[in-house]
Amino acid sequence: SPSTEPVTAESYLAALYEPDKELLRIQAALEERKLPQISVDPAYGRLLTLLINISGAHTALEIGALGGYSGICIARGLKANNCKWESAESRLVSLEIRQEFADLALSNITAAGYGDIAEFRVGAALDSLEQLEREGKTFDFFFIDADKVNYPNYLEWAIKLANSGAIIVADNLLMRGRTIDPNVQKHSVQVMRDFNRMFAADPRLESTMLPSFDGLAIARVK
Ligand code: SAM
Repeated sequence: SPSTEPVTAESYLAALYEPDKELLRIQAALEERKLPQISVDPAYGRLLTLLINISGAHTALEIGALGGYSGICIARGLKANNCKWESAESRLVSLEIRQEFADLALSNITAAGYGDIAEFRVGAALDSLEQLEREGKTFDFFFIDADKVNYPNYLEWAIKLANSGAIIVADNLLMRGRTIDPNVQKHSVQVMRDFNRMFAADPRLESTMLPSFDGLAIARVK
C-alpha cells in the first residue's frame, strides 16, 4: 500500500542514500540514554566530509560533540585526505561541555575506526578555545554546532585560529523557524540573527547559507 508519509524534497533525496550505520548506532545510544536527537542531518554530514575532501583539510575543530556523529563525518574526510597525500597526520579536536557526551562521542568515533585521530576536550568551548590559542593550534576546517548564544564568539575564534583558506561551517541558523519569525525576540534568536548578518557580510569571509533542514552556513576564510 502507498506510504502515507508526506514526501518532501529533503526526504526524497535522503531516501536515495543507504542509511548511515554510524548514525543509526548513535541514535540508538542517544535514545537509550534519553538524550536529544540533534545530530547533524546526514545530508549535511555528507557535505562536511565532501568539503574536507575537496579542500584537502588536515586539521579540524568541532564545537559541540553530542554523540559524535558530525565528528565521524569530519573524520571520514580527514582520514581520506591523510591517505591521499600521505602527509602530516590528520586530526580532529572536538570541544564538548558535558563529560557524558564527550565519553559517548569518543566511544562512537572509536567504534567507527577514527579513535586514533580524534581528541575530545571537555569544558566550556570558550575556555578550550583560549587554551588552543595558547598552544598555538590552528585548523583547516571548523564546525560550529553548540550553544547558539556564543555563535558570534565562535565565529571570531574560528577566524582567529584559521589557517589560510580554512573552511567554517555552522549549523542551525534557522532555529526551527524562530530566526525568521519576527514575533520571536528571545535573546538566543536575536544573537543568531546577528550571527547570520555577520556571516553574510564579514569581509574576511567568502560565504553562502543553505536553507534546508535547520539552515547551514559555509564560508572560506580569505
Ligand atoms: N555536532 C553534533 C553532531 O552533529 O553530532 C551535535 C551537537 S549538539 C547540537 C550541541 C552540543 O554542544 C551538545 O552536545 C552540548 O552539550 C554542546 N555544548 C553546549 N554548550 C556548549 C559549550 N558552551 N561548550 C562546549 N559544548 C557545548
